[in-house]
Amino acid sequence: MSYQIPRGTQDILPASSSKWQALEQTLRHFCYLYGFNEIRTPFFEHTNVFKRDNDSSDMVNKEMYTFQLANSSTSLTLRPEGTAGVVRSFVENKMYADPDLPIKMYYMGPMARHERPQKGRLRLFNQFGVESLGVKDPYADVEVIVLAYSILKALGLNDIKVLLNTLGDDESRAAYRNALREYFAPYVGDLCADCKRRYEQNPLRLLDCKIDHDKECMKDAPRMADYLNEESRRYFDTVCQALEQLDIPYEIDSKLVRGLDYYTHTVFEIVSLNKEMGAQSTVLAGGRYDGLIPYFGGPEGMSGIGWALGMERLLIALEAEGINLEEDNGLDAYVMVLDKEARGYAFEVLTELRAYGYRSEMDLIGRSFKGQFKTVDRKHAKTAFLIGSKEMEEQSVTIKLLEKREQVNIPVADMVAFLDRQLVEEEEEHHHHHHEHEEE
Ligand code: ATP
Ligand code: MG
Repeated sequence: MSYQIPRGTQDILPASSSKWQALEQTLRHFCYLYGFNEIRTPFFEHTNVFKRDNDSSDMVNKEMYTFQLANSSTSLTLRPEGTAGVVRSFVENKMYADPDLPIKMYYMGPMARHERPQKGRLRLFNQFGVESLGVKDPYADVEVIVLAYSILKALGLNDIKVLLNTLGDDESRAAYRNALREYFAPYVGDLCADCKRRYEQNPLRLLDCKIDHDKECMKDAPRMADYLNEESRRYFDTVCQALEQLDIPYEIDSKLVRGLDYYTHTVFEIVSLNKEMGAQSTVLAGGRYDGLIPYFGGPEGMSGIGWALGMERLLIALEAEGINLEEDNGLDAYVMVLDKEARGYAFEVLTELRAYGYRSEMDLIGRSFKGQFKTVDRKHAKTAFLIGSKEMEEQSVTIKLLEKREQVNIPVADMVAFLDRQLVEEEEEHHHHHHEHEEE
């Protein structure tokens, strides 16, 4: 029996939630700019939404939190990723019939995978992802890649690399699969147990193995590029050319096949090059999927593209580069209560301040002047309101302006106008200093 947090999960405590909110705000802002709207799907789905025929990925085969309630025959699974639920919803709600395809959506929230926890790898982690559904055009691919890159750059990440590859269409992939089977036939006995299964199920995933990664036979394996048909080649060239035209630096990685089995054509990752990321350096990953919409009962031949980023991993990458998203401006006012009888009046002042948009708090536990003043300091308050029975009787407030080290006593009726003036003045002062520094 334990009242400790389960292994591989973490609390996001109030002290660090502001950086999460700052991150979420940037993500939402970019989606707004690019015309992606939020979708919220359930945190669990019927197991077969994730566990599809022929899926050879570890995520589906080993990492899913699947459960069945005692009085039910329905098998449910906590979502390990966002795409399947979004596509299920796209089809179920007939979004494919919209006259304005693609339907562009984003989602964020927790994902559950039973993995071995380590830095940047949790059992319950948060993803932010986008999906652009219903249009198969290289520029739909370009749009989501540019969105991904722009977000990471706007957050301040510098040490990143875009890795790009194509898996081609079904025909190209079938040819490539055959070539891989033929090539690996003499080596498969020396590969890990998972790779033996992959060899049969989906030999593309051999290239993705974290165990056999450095084996000699991997280096000379056939390359996808040599098995692309004309159409797949042209599709990929258009994506690459557009990225060049937009100055998005990328690198073609012919071994990039991605963890899930449903990808076709363009696949990509954005990795952090910072040493602190260790083996968990992939911040964002995605690609095009052709089979998924028809799989859920949508129109034959309709495809989509999307990516997901690990929010915890992104925060680690930002921290590794010394980027701080937190911006706590402190309180506008802290109301200090000097006499117990004045509490009611003080609370009235507090409520008035808040009504006018001033971020304010008040002492609730009757501490000494010194004790309360320490709080003013810790909360970085711009002003301290000193409220005692004198102020109550006069209907006045005594305000300490902490930066200017001045103190005034004014009628409570003038309080808001006074604060408006003072705090705007301080703001301008800071702005002025800021510019002076810039000019230096
Ligand atoms: P990996 O190769 O690291 O296992 P993956 O291929 O399983 O990654 P995706 O399914 O593509 O990852 O998920 C997209 C992103 O979600 C990853 O790039 C990563 O940032 C994040 N992510 C995936 N699994 C975890 C996890 N267990 N803990 C934290 N973040 C994760
Ligand atoms: Mg994984």
